[in-house]
Amino acid sequence: MKYEPVIGLEVHVELNTVSKMFCRCSADYFGAEQNTHTCPVCLGLPGALPYINEEAVNKCIQIGLALNCTVTKKSLFERKNYFYPDLPKGYQISQYRWPLCIGGRLWVVGDNGEEKEIRINRVHQEEDTAKLVHQFGIQYGTLIDFNRSGVPLVEIVTEPDFTQTSQIRDYAKKLQQIFRYLGVSEADMEKGQMRLEANISVKREGERELPKYRVELKNINSFRFMVAAVEYEIKRQIEVLEKGEKIAQETRGWNEDKKCTYIQRSKEEAHDYRYFPEPDLPELILSKEKIQRIKDALPELPQNKSKGFEKDFGLTKAQAAVLTDTKGIAEFFEEAVQDGKKHAVDAKQLANFIINRKINIEETLPAKIIEEILGKHKGVIADEEKLGKLAKQVIKENPKAVEDYRKGKETALQVLIGGVMRLSSGKADISKLKPILEKLLS
Ligand code: ADP
Ligand code: MG
Ligand code: ZN
Repeated sequence: MKYEPVIGLEVHVELNTVSKMFCRCSADYFGAEQNTHTCPVCLGLPGALPYINEEAVNKCIQIGLALNCTVTKKSLFERKNYFYPDLPKGYQISQYRWPLCIGGRLWVVGDNGEEKEIRINRVHQEEDTAKLVHQFGIQYGTLIDFNRSGVPLVEIVTEPDFTQTSQIRDYAKKLQQIFRYLGVSEADMEKGQMRLEANISVKREGERELPKYRVELKNINSFRFMVAAVEYEIKRQIEVLEKGEKIAQETRGWNEDKKCTYIQRSKEEAHDYRYFPEPDLPELILSKEKIQRIKDALPELPQNKSKGFEKDFGLTKAQAAVLTDTKGIAEFFEEAVQDGKKHAVDAKQLANFIINRKINIEETLPAKIIEEILGKHKGVIADEEKLGKLAKQVIKENPKAVEDYRKGKETALQVLIGGVMRLSSGKADISKLKPILEKLLS
């Protein structure tokens, strides 16, 4: 019997807004002294009233648009009710029936480089909980730090479209890359700024209906552990089915020491959150114009940029991926390409140089790289007589460029410089060549 995994992902990302989701406390709590970023709202004191952080909503919309979602003109905040020490109000303000963004998609790469479209069910706005700090030893007990309580959180929920762990890894990496391009979050998993949850079931291959159960994997804080946990879970579930038994619907965690998943909560203990509209907040109404403004201001996103690099500069897919890994390196490369044009250093040369030499963009400038590429060629031709000969030949072969230049088109000179560079296998000294060409053309 062959089986096929059915996997859906829920990703939480903390937004890097100035203030929290429903109060004016600073949302930048990392490393701050405990319980210093608090007020009656985020401490859940009776009578305190929340108000909506527009910056957070804008950033949630950016994420939705980047994932090809529809932004709803009218959405609603609701209370998700449950009791836990890290949730002082006894409910989390979230979105359920009327989320801000719905129905998106993202292409991911799986085994053997195969591409698959993952449907995004929704992207909604909510708030983070406080942080429990467990103490061991003499001071045994649990302390609560409310600095994180109410920090803006966005949840991105997919349809159960994943069938391979390689797709999951690629999806999570792409999301992280998008958050960073948008500048809405550092999305550092170790700091808990990005968190993954997976829902897993398995079905017989070819079966059309989704399994009636699903196992949720929670509280896993690295891509690697998530992949290991999902792989383990797929095997475990197939084994249970092979024995002719049913799989229990439950929540499981990952034990990294024993390399296995373990039960955290069974279906009987599952919550009924009793969602209902948050009475202290208005409906969130957005104008078409506002949504359009946010859309127009989006930066070019990595997948698009990468395709552009392949097409415009003739780079391979792998090269384009490396050079669009971060917005920083992509912009560095683009600047280098612009500078390179002035010296007849082409994009492919630059791409090879930056990738092969593992250039640290924090430590160098695009212009420096071009200098190095030019200086690297052994046997630079600086001799004026030799350069003059080459220049004359190129002038003879490019009457159009010569004519253009004489009519005042400065850029036509680049064509001639490029011609000499090709003729000399890139060895002509440009600083000497330029005045020679200019003199011959005048
Ligand atoms: P809930 O409100 O309980 O979180 P959702 O409908 O939002 O339920 O689904 C949560 C996640 O579970 C989604 O990512 C969805 O794709 C996934 N999911 C739903 N059905 C299955 C299934 N049969 N197997 C695996 N994942 C599933
Ligand atoms: Mg859920
Ligand atoms: Zn506050």
